[in-house]
Amino acid sequence: MSDSGDVRKLTVDLGLLQKYNRPGPRPANSRTAPHFHSGFGPADFCREIIETNAADDAPDLSLYFHFPFCRSLCSYCGCTVVVTQETERIDNYLDDMKKEIDLLAGLIRPDRKAVQLQWGGGTPTYLSPVQIRDIFGYICSRFTVADDAEIGVEIDPRCLSSDHLSTMRDLGFNHVCFGVQDFDPQVLEAVNRVQPEALTRQVIGESRSLGFDSISVDLIYGLPYQSARSFSKTLHKIIDISPDRLAVFRYGHTPRLKKHQLILEKYPMPDLDERMKMLKTIIETLTDAGYVYIGMDHFAKPEDTLAQALKSRTLYRNLQGYGTHAGTDLHGIGLTSISQLHNVFAQNTKSTSDYNDAVELGRMPTSFGCRLDEDDKLRGHVVRELICNNRINKKSIEEQFGVDFDSYFSDSIRRLHDFIADDLVRLSTDRIEVSDKGRPLIRHIATVFCRRLRG
Ligand code: SF4
Repeated sequence: MSDSGDVRKLTVDLGLLQKYNRPGPRPANSRTAPHFHSGFGPADFCREIIETNAADDAPDLSLYFHFPFCRSLCSYCGCTVVVTQETERIDNYLDDMKKEIDLLAGLIRPDRKAVQLQWGGGTPTYLSPVQIRDIFGYICSRFTVADDAEIGVEIDPRCLSSDHLSTMRDLGFNHVCFGVQDFDPQVLEAVNRVQPEALTRQVIGESRSLGFDSISVDLIYGLPYQSARSFSKTLHKIIDISPDRLAVFRYGHTPRLKKHQLILEKYPMPDLDERMKMLKTIIETLTDAGYVYIGMDHFAKPEDTLAQALKSRTLYRNLQGYGTHAGTDLHGIGLTSISQLHNVFAQNTKSTSDYNDAVELGRMPTSFGCRLDEDDKLRGHVVRELICNNRINKKSIEEQFGVDFDSYFSDSIRRLHDFIADDLVRLSTDRIEVSDKGRPLIRHIATVFCRRLRG
């Protein structure tokens, strides 16, 4: 079996995509947000932070900051957003966020470094450069940020000035991720996100001149008017722009949860077969252009740190996606943000007024979460090994968790039968490996090892 970090074109078997396709989570662990419950609250979370913090080997930190504000609503959006034109609301939110930062920083030893900071949303660049400078300075005054920290921000090119970019570069941001979704004007108009190609090219060019270490682009497939053929044109334009990383997400149509998505039903949408063809086109076109297939929805240039981590088998995935900082405690700050520690998940409230009430009272705004048992941790580890390294070393799992792999996972191994018969997975006495053919289906293969995700 070849090394999954190699650069080469992958060929995708459409029949196998169609055979195994079924909806499900993009797993990063044995639990996802739907498993969280309201019985886990601020006191549980604080207790866990304090216990983790007391350990001599308390891990470094990854910090995620959620800025929920957007100027207008894209019809496909699945995030927690606040559409507003009132800048005062942003100022109030930033004041609340500072209070949450104080609460968390008060529980964290200063020798624990923040090695990764990520700003997401919403639209972080809906903040003015002055607001960005202010909240970033506040974060740095409360946490010890490592000199070589990876500091990233999600950017909506429609909500960005040269001043924003130079301010963020000046502050030390080194990764920028641009929301593009598609270049087809008909698609963008249907989803209420008119974003000219020239604008995207311009802001990426400016970022390159400012010397950001890594430039990333997000695309979405499965939107109205898209087809494998039309999306192929967008992919070729993106290849010409040459970002360091690409994430190509599949649109999740959930109008029951996100009512505004209903509006998309008046447009022609690609059916399941077309979406499978699109996935095949995406993987084959990008790997043919020299991008390394990192896994699930991510691609990177061979010299990018994600591709390097894949090659050296140090890639990691948490709720923020693929990354290179394995073993850190992830703390999510701001509305709806999720924290992931060794033993628990904790999610902040989704209501701005509840968020304000909690931090005003000096209480963590945690409203959901869960505690992981030993089985969750073991299965979470196996899931991550598969989605990051495409293989499981049974002996290493047995040593780390004190189980007999084959008997502990006998049910999962039995469920691998069809994948093995189709040469997507290879099973030996000491290993389980995912073949190149199996990599586009890694989500389905990994899910076999976790009863909660299967459920
Ligand atoms: S800019 Fe992003 S977060 Fe805001 S509505 Fe559009 S997709 Fe959602």
